[in-house]
Amino acid sequence: MSNTLFEKIAAREIPATIVYEDSQILAIRDINPQAPSHILIFPKKPISRIADAGPEEAGLLGHLLLKAAEIAKKEGLAAEGYRIVINNGPHGGETVPHLHVHVLGGRRMQWPPG
Ligand code: 5GP
Repeated sequence: MSNTLFEKIAAREIPATIVYEDSQILAIRDINPQAPSHILIFPKKPISRIADAGPEEAGLLGHLLLKAAEIAKKEGLAAEGYRIVINNGPHGGETVPHLHVHVLGGRRMQWPPG
């Protein structure tokens, strides 16, 4: 059995709307979207948070970010723009302890974040 929520989703133990998958990463629609498009992209390897990623993960993290931009483009977000967010730990607002990138778009974002 898998451990983190996102491992369970990758293992098809919990259903999700998958928008992209390859051998290293999975992209799903957020169950509680904060924008018209809200996609979560995460490595299948369960790294808890960006602070726990070492230099050996450079290739994986580069792949994750480049795919985030590619997926945003496929969502039709490239022309108007979008936001990519990584929440790290409690003060960062991370609730699922499995590194993931949020892609949010389809509306104008506020800055600074609350
Ligand atoms: P975090 O707060 O850790 O940065 O982001 C976790 C995200 O996972 C939240 O935006 C939350 O809505 C989403 N989420 C939590 N549980 C589920 C679930 O079961 N399925 C999907 N698709 N998203 C989830």
